[in-house]
Formats: sequence, C-alpha cells, structure tokens
Amino acid sequence: MDRKSAVFTARLITYIVLIIMLIAQTSCGKDEKNNDVKKSDESFFAMDTYITVTAYGENSDEAVKAAENKITALEKLWSVTDQNSEVYAANHNGTAGLSDDTAELVRFALDMCDTTDGALDISLYPVLTAWGFTTDEHHVPTDAELAALLENVGYDRITLDGNTLTVPDGVQIDLGAVGKGYAGDLAVQELKANGITSALLDLGGNIQTIGTKPDGSTWKIGVRSPYGDGSFATVSVKDKAVITSGGYERYFEENGEVYWHILDPKTGKPAHSGLLSVTVIGDEGRLCDSLSTSLFVMGIDRAEQLWKERMDFDFIAVSEKGDIYITEGIKNDFELSESYKGLNVSVIK
Ligand code: AMP
Ligand code: MG
Repeated sequence: MDRKSAVFTARLITYIVLIIMLIAQTSCGKDEKNNDVKKSDESFFAMDTYITVTAYGENSDEAVKAAENKITALEKLWSVTDQNSEVYAANHNGTAGLSDDTAELVRFALDMCDTTDGALDISLYPVLTAWGFTTDEHHVPTDAELAALLENVGYDRITLDGNTLTVPDGVQIDLGAVGKGYAGDLAVQELKANGITSALLDLGGNIQTIGTKPDGSTWKIGVRSPYGDGSFATVSVKDKAVITSGGYERYFEENGEVYWHILDPKTGKPAHSGLLSVTVIGDEGRLCDSLSTSLFVMGIDRAEQLWKERMDFDFIAVSEKGDIYITEGIKNDFELSESYKGLNVSVIK
C-alpha cells in the first residue's frame, strides 16, 4: 500500500470508529437542578481534520446540523486544492470576487499579519508546498530553492478592495493558520442563532465553547502535551476559544532532524523560537488561531510583549527547556495534570 492509500485507510477506520462511538453515545446532559437536558453531537471530517460539535438544548439536533453545514460550506470556499474554491481562484487567476465570509477572513488575517510583524504570513503557501507539507510528500528544500521562493512571499503584496482579492503573479495564499478558528466562530454563530446557550466544538483539537456546561460548571479543557499523548494541564473556561499550535502536530524526520509545519516567514524554514507549543485562550477563535501560530514563531519574549500591548487574550506556552509560561489572566483557571506536577510554571504579569 502506498503512503497516500495508507493515510486514507487510517482516516477511514478512524471515521468509522467515530460513527460507531456517535451511535453508542448517550443523548442527554444535566442542568443545575439535575434535570435531563437534550444533547446532540455530530462528528465529521472537514478542513483536513476531525471535527465534533456537541450542543445542549431542545433545538440541539437542528443547531448541530446547521453548524456542520456551515463548516463544510466554508471548507469549499477556503480549500487551496479545490478548483472551485475562492482561494484557488485568487491563487490561479490573480483575482477573485469573494463571498462576505471569505472577505472578512482575509481582511482579519491580513490585519494579524501586520499586528505580528509578519510572523504570520498568509502568502507562505509556495514555501509550504516545497517542504511537501501540502501533499505529505516531504522533502528538505535547498537554501537556494528557499531563497527563490521567498522572493514571492510577502502578505503586503496582497490587496483586498471591498470583496475583490488581488494576488500578484507567483504569490499564493493559504488561510490554514486562521481558517479553522474563524470557521469555529461562524459555527458558534449558527448554534446561537438556533437558540443554543451551551456547546463545545472541537475542530481537530481547537476548542470553542458557548456558555458553560448545562449544569452551570465551566468546561475543563485539556492542553495537549508536546512531549507525547495526553494533556499536561487543564484550563477551565466558559464562552472562550482554546486553540493550540505545536510542532508535534505535523512534522517529518530526515537524517535525524525533525522538520515541522510552522515556518518562520523570514527564513522559509521551520520556526525555532524556543517554543514547542502555544495555546491561546480568548473570546474569538479567529484571534486565538492566528495568535497560536504566530506566537509560536515569535517566541516567548515577543509573545509577552504582544500580550502586554493587547491584553485581549491569554496564553500557555511550553518551551524547549520544558518550562511553562502562562499569562496572569488564566492563572486561577490553570492546573497541571497529576503526572506533570513537577513542571516549572512562570506567570507572566
Ligand atoms: P496552525 O495549525 O493554526 O498553527 O496553522 C499551521 C498551518 O498554517 C500550517 O500547516 C501551514 O499551512 C500554515 N503556516 C505555517 N507557518 C505559517 C506562518 N508563519 N504564517 C501563516 N501560516 C503558516
Ligand atoms: Mg493557527
């Protein structure tokens, strides 16, 4: 079996297991008075990842379906490989008329590229392709190859005028670092429009919540350990997004070196800022998603500086040395897991 069919078979098996789990799942939760509350959930594969939407309340079946429909519709607009997508049109025709959702995402993403001084750069797609991260056919490009490709990297060459996106020849965009977070925000909107006040969305480990659990308690979200399976800590939240970027999420090894999928736009090479993972906690998925990727590139000092400038998010960062940094805003909601109690946690104030 070649690599692609192996990946496909593995995905298919996981999908079947998810469907069986779904059928076997109980279909209610409890409210504050211990009464049953209707629960609906749906798992599906979209945006290159497994997504589960869980909602509580009378209208939860319709709400979850509406959220799923929204996410699959957005995937069709934002896919870099689907020839009918808006992003594909911009990358191949140089210009595209965007739907309102896509225009809003591009406008926000360009703004975050600016805010992060280019640590986030949505024009990295040709470089990501050279590394094989877009096809899973990995390869280490030469410095000369990277230098040539970097000539065409620069988010400031992309213009969005109203809903018209213009991408110069040779430049290609990819919204992969921000799209899932914004898809989560729009799915949250669908759930709320359907009357939902308690829900949890899991977009491949990106968590977004509405309200609290139906019994009024906070959602306890596991923060994945970059050292292996399982969580090294939990963070308790309500009405927040909790989004992680880490080198462990997608990488390959060649000649004993590990190469991961988050690149430093300055070098075109995997970012080595001294961090292994960054989790961002905030009100909106799009902000948390764009920041988790860019803070990973920026490293702890610049991350701290941006946090102090904005104060509209919190983060948890794990360094290569094994130290944990958390910002003051989540100090009381953060707890190390039992087997990680020995880790050194610094609170950024
Ligand atoms: P995330 O999982 O949100 O951290 O996004 C990572 C994805 O964003 C990668 O798989 C690439 O497709 C893309 N990417 C990698 N590095 C960057 C970067 N510096 N700026 C923007 N997108 C990036
Ligand atoms: Mg991201």
